[in-house]
Amino acid sequence: MIYLRQIPHQARNMNHIVIIGNGISGVTLARHIRKNSDQEITIVSAETDYFFSRTALMYVYMGHMKFEHTQPYEPWFWKKNSINLKKGYVEKVDTQKKELKFAGGDSMHYDKLVIATGSKPNKFGWPGQDLDGVMGMYHKQDLENLEKHAPNNKVCKRAVIVGGGLIGIELAEMMHSRNIPVTFLVRESSFWNGVLPSGESEMINKHIKENHIDLRLSTNLKEIKANENGHVKSVVIEETGEEILCDVVGLTAGVSPNINFLKDSEIETNRGVLVNRFLETSAKDVYAIGDCAEQREAIGNRRPIEAVWYTGRMMGETLAQTLCGNKMEYKPGHWFNSAKFFDIEYQTYGWVFSERNKKDSEVHFHWKHKSDHKCITVAYDKDSNKFLGINTFGIRMRHEIFDKWLTEERDVNYVMEYLADANFDPEFYTLHEKEIISQFNEVNGTNIQSRKKSWKRIFTKA
Ligand SMILES: Cc1cc2nc3c(=O)[nH]c(=O)nc-3n(C[C@H](O)[C@H](O)[C@H](O)COP(=O)(O)OP(=O)(O)OC[C@H]3O[C@@H](n4cnc5c(N)ncnc54)[C@H](O)[C@@H]3O)c2cc1C
Repeated sequence: MIYLRQIPHQARNMNHIVIIGNGISGVTLARHIRKNSDQEITIVSAETDYFFSRTALMYVYMGHMKFEHTQPYEPWFWKKNSINLKKGYVEKVDTQKKELKFAGGDSMHYDKLVIATGSKPNKFGWPGQDLDGVMGMYHKQDLENLEKHAPNNKVCKRAVIVGGGLIGIELAEMMHSRNIPVTFLVRESSFWNGVLPSGESEMINKHIKENHIDLRLSTNLKEIKANENGHVKSVVIEETGEEILCDVVGLTAGVSPNINFLKDSEIETNRGVLVNRFLETSAKDVYAIGDCAEQREAIGNRRPIEAVWYTGRMMGETLAQTLCGNKMEYKPGHWFNSAKFFDIEYQTYGWVFSERNKKDSEVHFHWKHKSDHKCITVAYDKDSNKFLGINTFGIRMRHEIFDKWLTEERDVNYVMEYLADANFDPEFYTLHEKEIISQFNEVNGTNIQSRKKSWKRIFTKA
């Protein structure tokens, strides 16, 4: 425990709000409750003393920053804002007594409880998945494990990464930054092709290989073998029986809600903790936010569980309003996201589905630069021409512009005509504008002329 105010909350005649999880969702919630009220707040975490930015973990390993730099708030911030911090693992939640039981044997009363326990890496029961040298890439402890088992290419002569999503490719880049040879096992026939349209997915396949990663598509892990000390020594491939010698195995086949500790509680769960639009669970005075929350009813095209940073932050902001007396529904707005695949930045606004998941009415306009490092895919409705979304690779676009166009339900011709307004890189558009518009006109039989960028339009709200 770092510190905890000594006065019992009962004596202070106010709500004790306990938040399990000091990630972005829990911490945003605590900050916003504090902005609006003086209720007692305690944040519990088993992972670290202080909140840190999980998305920046890779840069610590890559030497771009120290771990302390991933902590947005100084240690004094919590005391100054009267936010109690408790380090401990919650083993049980008793919703009748409104009590938490900790692994150390102690307990804590709550008036309102918020579950913000995030995710954990998936393990699919592979033989050897718990060996020394096998790790996920989620928690700070994973980073420490990585430093221990893969400090350099002398100790780790090869790493095998299992699972081709956003965290898998980050881990590949991390290892690559220390010149550790990487074999990357991807079950799908092309990288992340359940999410990305094929043109984009194929471009990323090539880029991964350009970075000297041994990318194995349509390849599954069969088992992980140990040496005589119980440390990983190799993996065996399901399809071919090939054995690949390695010193580290990174398991990055997705994440799932970190909610095992709730299994004996009365809180209703599915894959995650089930919540309604107000982020309320089935138990009175218990809420869930962030990666571990699962919406009972779909919100538009959104998945019931969204393991992304900004939705955790939004849920925290929303629930703070409710807990401070201003009951508020969670409304995430238009979908967006961004990531990086080695050197190629990726942004998505609205919905661009992969061929595997798209409806017949969703049409794609795809433009790719000859360098094979930049492309865009614009999705629109075949019948109405309504703009549905855009993916961009190697080109930065303005979030607020696409958000406005999606709200205004613009058609694709309008989006193409004014695309210069959305472009963040001033040089980009002048370089590629002609090519993109002429390809679009050719494919669609239109005669769109591109408009010059207008700051007035950019700063006019929808
Ligand atoms: C390597 C990596 C890169 C990522 N990059 C991006 C990105 O670029 N963009 C993006 O949008 N998202 C990214 N994400 C996802 C993003 O980080 C998560 O969506 C977000 O951090 C989830 O926040 P959270 O508050 O829900 O939970 P978490 O950050 O997981 O925090 C939950 C905390 O609760 C603790 N906890 C769990 N159970 C208990 C218990 N029983 N008792 C006590 N404490 C407990 C956990 O240890 C953890 O500290 C990335 C994730 C990883 C791992």
